[in-house]
Amino acid sequence: MKYEFRIEKTANPKPKPDPDTLKFGRAFSDHMLIMDYDDENGWHDGRIVPYGPIALDPAAAVLHYAQEIFEGLKAYRARDGRVLLFRPDMNAARAARSCDRICIPRLDDGLFVEAVKAIVSLERGWIPEKEGTSLYIRPFIFADEPVIGVHPAHHYKFVIICSPVGPYYDTPGGSLAATSIFVEEEYVRAFPGGTGFAKVGGNYAASLKAQGKAAARGCEQALWLDAIERKYVEEIGTSNAFFVIDGEVITAPLSGTILPGVTRDSVIALLKKWGARVSERRLSIDDVRAAAEGGRLGEVFAAGTAAVISPVGRLVFENGEITISGGKVGELSQRLYETLYGLQTGDRPDDMGWTAEV
Ligand SMILES: *Cc1c(COP(=O)(O)O)cnc(C)c1O
Repeated sequence: MKYEFRIEKTANPKPKPDPDTLKFGRAFSDHMLIMDYDDENGWHDGRIVPYGPIALDPAAAVLHYAQEIFEGLKAYRARDGRVLLFRPDMNAARAARSCDRICIPRLDDGLFVEAVKAIVSLERGWIPEKEGTSLYIRPFIFADEPVIGVHPAHHYKFVIICSPVGPYYDTPGGSLAATSIFVEEEYVRAFPGGTGFAKVGGNYAASLKAQGKAAARGCEQALWLDAIERKYVEEIGTSNAFFVIDGEVITAPLSGTILPGVTRDSVIALLKKWGARVSERRLSIDDVRAAAEGGRLGEVFAAGTAAVISPVGRLVFENGEITISGGKVGELSQRLYETLYGLQTGDRPDDMGWTAEV
């Protein structure tokens, strides 16, 4: 290790939550990692301390102008006891690009992954062992300089917290379940020149309204269309969207409005390895609808760290709806899920070189 993190252990370890009733992002482990940035010292004073509130000046820039980025990844406990991360270097690279976009100084090379490993190593007792569970890791960086003025801050905090999480699906055995998705034609998530490719908090505040509309129509998530023509499919909620039409697997290109998901990249790599036809290209919602009506829409699924693969059984429009794969989990969705989950948990030999041991 290149970095030394001072460790102050908690005097009051918390009881671990019941692995059978774990929800997403409600329970947090005993410790958190913190580092500070100022112009004079750069990133410094890395420390792991008991989990707890962070004191903030009411004028802290993040509270007013949302100068904040975050990441999300998981640690799994393999059957042989190893603790595995999945492609954490990709989260590190994405965090750097997110920082650049909103003028936060990047972490030093290598620091992100070492910090993640340091906190996970200390919290390894918090990684639940039950099938489908994992330790969700949430690194984030925010401006805590107390100045009310719209300009990049000169003081930041880098923090990592950890949350034991259960299976994403509330089904027997946590098996995949088909979701309903609302096609959002009014609000947009991202636009050219904006921050769609960056994992910045502000994007998610702006998405809540559409999420509420989707929920009111009995849907789990919204499908985002492009901001200019309200025509091309972009993402599903906070995950990347894939459509299978006439055997071609299509996902939106990384043109600035799409968040470059680690899962998305892994899905594309696996599909290529399997010899599937996969295209990163624009696809209009009208083409999706026409394909469904012509019986050519094979599957739709979303890909992201939280659920890994989330099959879509129904697309709901302002006027009408379409059913996909008979409302069931598609074959490709199932195969991708099993392969990715198997790699992530160490159940499958890692022939892709994607796992990193803590
Ligand atoms: C985080 C996120 C994703 C998925 O990225 P992963 O690295 O696969 O978890 C996709 N879209 C949005 C908008 C996201 O915030």
